Amino acid sequence: MRTESKREKSQMTTAAILKHCYDITESYLQIDDRVTNNSTISIIKETQDLLISTKQIFLNEILPYWNPIKDNISISYNGGKDCQVLLIIYLACLYEYFYMAALNFNNLKLDTMNTFNNMNTTVKFALKAVYLRQENTFQIINEFIEESSKKYGLSLYKSNIGSMENSLKEYMIHEKWDCNYNTKQKAGIIIGIRRSDPYALNLKYIQQTDKNWPQFMRLQPLLDWKLRNVWSFLIYSNEPICKLYELGFTSLGGVNNTVRNLYLKKTKCNQNGDKCKDGTSTSSHLWNHFQWEFQHRFGSHNKDDHSEDMTIEDNSIDHEYLCNDTESYYPGWFLIDDEKERAGRTKRK
Ligand code: FAD
Repeated sequence: MRTESKREKSQMTTAAILKHCYDITESYLQIDDRVTNNSTISIIKETQDLLISTKQIFLNEILPYWNPIKDNISISYNGGKDCQVLLIIYLACLYEYFYMAALNFNNLKLDTMNTFNNMNTTVKFALKAVYLRQENTFQIINEFIEESSKKYGLSLYKSNIGSMENSLKEYMIHEKWDCNYNTKQKAGIIIGIRRSDPYALNLKYIQQTDKNWPQFMRLQPLLDWKLRNVWSFLIYSNEPICKLYELGFTSLGGVNNTVRNLYLKKTKCNQNGDKCKDGTSTSSHLWNHFQWEFQHRFGSHNKDDHSEDMTIEDNSIDHEYLCNDTESYYPGWFLIDDEKERAGRTKRK
């Protein structure tokens, strides 16, 4: 995966960031007959349908009620692939929602128009985000959260370390958001949860938090995405992603309960692309399903496939957690089976 360019490190205006994310989504939706491989095109087509429906949820069901101008929306962001995909789509939709509104300014309230104009001329526009800090996090994740939230222009609140419920309570107080409002007047927090996550099968796109949680609306438009859709969109986007994925992680938790995914371990048989004769290898048939996306990444003229690059620096604090496992692993995107995604969320031996 690539690193940030100088231009990206020097901050873009909020309007430019929103436009950049909008261009990524539009470009993804326009992928068509350039793809000749049947299995690749079927993943891309499926992801395009999901992208369209996620955008519709944002544009029709979320942004009219919760948006940065009303100051009642935030995104829960932990640097993971799911919330990064959702963040890109959210920013793209903000661009579409406000840009369309600006185009039809006859019907616009003055404050909306002014805000859009300000977005074009000033760097800061409060795109609220919250990171619920947990104990013993990988330094790589913390660094990625820091860099990416700057890049996307987020105004990121980092909670004290604690349970999710307590951290969210703390965040509600910080934002002065009232829990007692009626449903659509409550604040909303975007969450990158998917149906394959624990207890998520029957969740709705928009629903109130459970009784014993601080009261706000959970905005969850990524629910129907599968692992393969997340990888396809994220790899095509050409955005820098958390480096742990390159090293064989597929789901990110703390250093004490997250290891690389055993299904990605390189074995003699899966390196040759053969199936193990004894059938015991859990990682046979591993290959990169996203070669096309790598080769045609958004905005890239570089056709090299760096999909197996490993770039962890020796002086990283995470080194001891990463390098005492001497086995080689395929990168996270070699795994597309949702049921195996969380196999690395386990006790470290
Ligand atoms: P992941 O798959 O990594 O996380 C799924 C998504 O949760 C991420 O994409 C991100 O948007 C968010 N998230 C996870 N960890 C963090 C973090 N440390 N900081 C910021 N965002 C994070 N559970 C209930 O039982 N009832 C509830 O009402 C409820 N409300 C919630 C409201 C919010 C805002 C959040 C963030 C979580 C809530 N949860 C609730 C917990 C939720 O259902 C998941 O259990 C939790 O997000 C962890 O998911 P995961 O382990 O699958 O991690």
